[in-house]
Amino acid sequence: MAVIRFKALDEVFSRTPREIHIPNKKTSEYFAVNVFNREKMQEYLSKDTFDSVMESIEKGTKIDRKLADKVAVGMKSWAIERGATHYTHWFHPLTDGTAEKHDAFIEKSNFEGVVENFSGEYLAQREPDASSFPSGGLRNTFEARGYTAWDPSSPAFIVGKTLSIPTIFVSYTGEALDHKTPLLKALQAIDKAAVELCQHFDKNVTKVLATLGCEQEYFLIDEALYYARPDLMLTERTLMGHASAKDQQLEDHYFGSIPERITNFMHEFEYECYKLGIPLKTRHNEVAPNQYEVAPLFEECNLAVDHNLLLMDIMKKIAKRHAFMVLFHEKPFKGINGSGKHNNWSLMTNTGVNLLSPGNKPKTNLQFLAFLVNTIKAVYKHQDLLRASISTAGNTHRLGANEAPPAIMSVFIGNRVTEMLDELEKRVTSRKMTPDEKTELKLDIGKIPEILLDNTDRNRTSPFAFTGNRFEFRAVGSATNCASPMMALNTAVAEQLTAFNREVNALINKGIKKDEAILQVIRKYITDSKPVRFEGNNYSEEWVIEAVKRGLTNITSVPDALDAYLSKSSRALFKSQKIFSEKELEARTEVRLENYIKKVQIEARVIGDLALNHVIPTAVKYQTMLIENVKGLKDLFGQNEYKTLAGGRLDLIKDISDHVTIIKAKVHDMIEARKVANKIESTREMADQYAKMIFPYLDEIRYHIDKLELVIDDEIWPLPKYRELLFTK
Ligand code: ADP
Ligand code: MG
Repeated sequence: MAVIRFKALDEVFSRTPREIHIPNKKTSEYFAVNVFNREKMQEYLSKDTFDSVMESIEKGTKIDRKLADKVAVGMKSWAIERGATHYTHWFHPLTDGTAEKHDAFIEKSNFEGVVENFSGEYLAQREPDASSFPSGGLRNTFEARGYTAWDPSSPAFIVGKTLSIPTIFVSYTGEALDHKTPLLKALQAIDKAAVELCQHFDKNVTKVLATLGCEQEYFLIDEALYYARPDLMLTERTLMGHASAKDQQLEDHYFGSIPERITNFMHEFEYECYKLGIPLKTRHNEVAPNQYEVAPLFEECNLAVDHNLLLMDIMKKIAKRHAFMVLFHEKPFKGINGSGKHNNWSLMTNTGVNLLSPGNKPKTNLQFLAFLVNTIKAVYKHQDLLRASISTAGNTHRLGANEAPPAIMSVFIGNRVTEMLDELEKRVTSRKMTPDEKTELKLDIGKIPEILLDNTDRNRTSPFAFTGNRFEFRAVGSATNCASPMMALNTAVAEQLTAFNREVNALINKGIKKDEAILQVIRKYITDSKPVRFEGNNYSEEWVIEAVKRGLTNITSVPDALDAYLSKSSRALFKSQKIFSEKELEARTEVRLENYIKKVQIEARVIGDLALNHVIPTAVKYQTMLIENVKGLKDLFGQNEYKTLAGGRLDLIKDISDHVTIIKAKVHDMIEARKVANKIESTREMADQYAKMIFPYLDEIRYHIDKLELVIDDEIWPLPKYRELLFTK
């Protein structure tokens, strides 16, 4: 019987690039054709309705039923004209993906037929039978009702023949059951706090939007090989596989020329994304073989998050057409780079000013400094929460694994900005400054843009880096829903800005002039947040030691990291910024812990199964072949001579036995450890047991399997090898 691995390889070798059919048009001609955006609203809604909707979106106020009815009529006409037959509320439950439940537009007409109907009621609110989504105990199944409610700030769109309406998802009693609800609240909080600060500089600022551009990294694997690897199919990562003799050492994949089969896939998913208004801008090969990146132009944060989720969904679907599977897992392959999702984040005013970009006047630069320093301080204060927001079973393999930042949160700002902050710290004093000192300072602050222009030093090892006009949160994992880190970051900065405003106002009330008051608080924050600033190599061992001295935390275990959601400072943060109730916070943490447990549990089962029914039988088969061979030698050459002739084979026979014995014993012990863990009642403790007592077995078992892979006859090895998974295109 042929080994499935070879069948799969035959399939791969016979592939040709799939032809693609994309109209020969400019992108701008079909961009967002499937989105019910402003332009479409203007066309399909009356002027009054349009204006009211725009106002609600801008102010974040609720849209009443009457208005919803009017919008629904326009939305329906547009969708049906574009061929939609169904609609769905599209939401982001606390799983890894998105959720949708489609309903046809049809309703019974008076006669025998049906008519298309869609009213404000369907648009505004739905009640999916959503009892099977994780809720962390917020809903017992008998009161399983969850509601989805329209988020008008993210426009509806058509995928296939379904009108999709972005919604939040909350329980019957109003608790958030999704990622979007707290994100929207966080965005409101930062808007409020940032506007208040901006008002010191420009009275025209009435709204501040958080902006996000996320760089999505991913792997592409041929479908046939993927299906020949049960571990990839069930866990999205390889739980075994010896390193390929060549992988990324020669650095020849990064930015390399992209093969045709892959560019065709890229063209096609980009085309689908453009129609949905996702502004994809950049594509390139990444460091690891078969690893790629796609990045959009940045957008308002909530929309950018929706678009990233939609992008991931579309990529998966289009990949199938090209016989590829997309892997978003943070570490599908051991020993080579994993995938991240750099979150480029900034704040933008309604007047079009990027608050993290220095302007050309001392005044706007002072504003820039205020936002820069507040962000640094927020990251310092809430380092644990930021880590928690990105801690998952998948990302734990990546953080600290030599190509990704460690689990220590620090901020990189570049040498020149560091010098500038140091200078400010020295110069500004709490006593009144002389006019000369003031002029000098103003001159210095005025020079910031020049400083930044040649501030090209980039630190790729930092988890949170300033890159000239934005911060880049690099520790985020490739599979993560960005709503989680974006909620944490925006809330933390909102709290910090609120405190800053309070301190500045207190000084102003004491009679200190506005600019000076702002400078004084900035100076204080520079001093306070110094320990979180790090310009060196985050991958180095010295940094780990240095970070401890600075009092920074370094938490690698997922359950330990997740504790940060429930810390005193996080609870206070979420309460003051009105993001979560205690109950919601606890439920959410419970869901994250459960998710971790289940992921490790599945991985443990998969490696156990594969070890027992793929690897060991293959090892025994090969060992038997060797034994036959040695016996033959003995028959031919006799007792005295055969040992020299069989030489290494005798050792190999023993080695195989040793590995097989150890694998068997470890799989057995791992199963026993699971039995112990599964009896534990507290989710937190169970997660700990999984992290400490089960997770380590995965690598221990793998070690012996990978040793066997190296010595066993290639002809009978059942699972596609790294060199095949990573180098076939
Ligand atoms: P890099 O050199 O870091 O790999 P990329 O071009 O791949 O850069 O990605 C940079 C991302 O940062 C893009 O998505 C870009 O739109 C985004 N970006 C640029 N300016 C801002 C901003 N002000 N706010 C948020 N994101 C931004
Ligand atoms: Mg980047």
